Amino acid sequence: MEIKRVCVYCASSSSCHPSYHEAANRLGRIIAEAGITLVYGGGAKGSMGRLADGALAVGGRVIGVIPQFMSDLEWAHRGLSELVLTRDMHERKRLMIEEVDAVIALPGGCGTFEELFEAMAWKRLGLYHGPIVIVNTNDFYRPCIELLEKSIAERFMDERHRGMWTVVAAPEDVLGAIRSAPAWPADSRAFAVI
Ligand code: AMP
Repeated sequence: MEIKRVCVYCASSSSCHPSYHEAANRLGRIIAEAGITLVYGGGAKGSMGRLADGALAVGGRVIGVIPQFMSDLEWAHRGLSELVLTRDMHERKRLMIEEVDAVIALPGGCGTFEELFEAMAWKRLGLYHGPIVIVNTNDFYRPCIELLEKSIAERFMDERHRGMWTVVAAPEDVLGAIRSAPAWPADSRAFAVI
């Protein structure tokens, strides 16, 4: 598959271990070097800022999507190719996932989790069909994957829902994971409710 545009969910924290920021920066660079447009939450701080900077440093196209109130708080990155201002968080999330070929989650806090889990919930309901790649830097997502496995084991989700996401160890593995992600069935609504 040709990857034209991807959405990355990641953290705003400046206080986490620098290895998370380095991974974000590498991912931005990898996406841009592949000629892929990067869509993200438009922030200047933390992994968000480092992600955008990594892509911009190699001439990448970066679209930030940020609510007006965050821009008013001067949280937005001012050096992007395009900055889209939204009315609220809901519009932001909808625009971020629209027309992308894949979504990618780096480690983060509740904001990143919310975005990742919404993408999964939409995929389960057949509202989004693309790959969802989780970058497991420093094994950060292990408890989250365990929780998803528990949800399958307890029959809140189906075995087939495990095919909604792919876990990779490092940013260098992301594009390969997108290309080899299992196709999501067009009739996924047939097993959305189990
Ligand atoms: P978190 O993973 O909790 O840091 O959340 C990242 C998400 O939180 C972003 O996609 C935004 O929705 C939001 N967010 C929180 N703080 C900021 C910030 N300073 N700049 C931009 N977005 C932020």
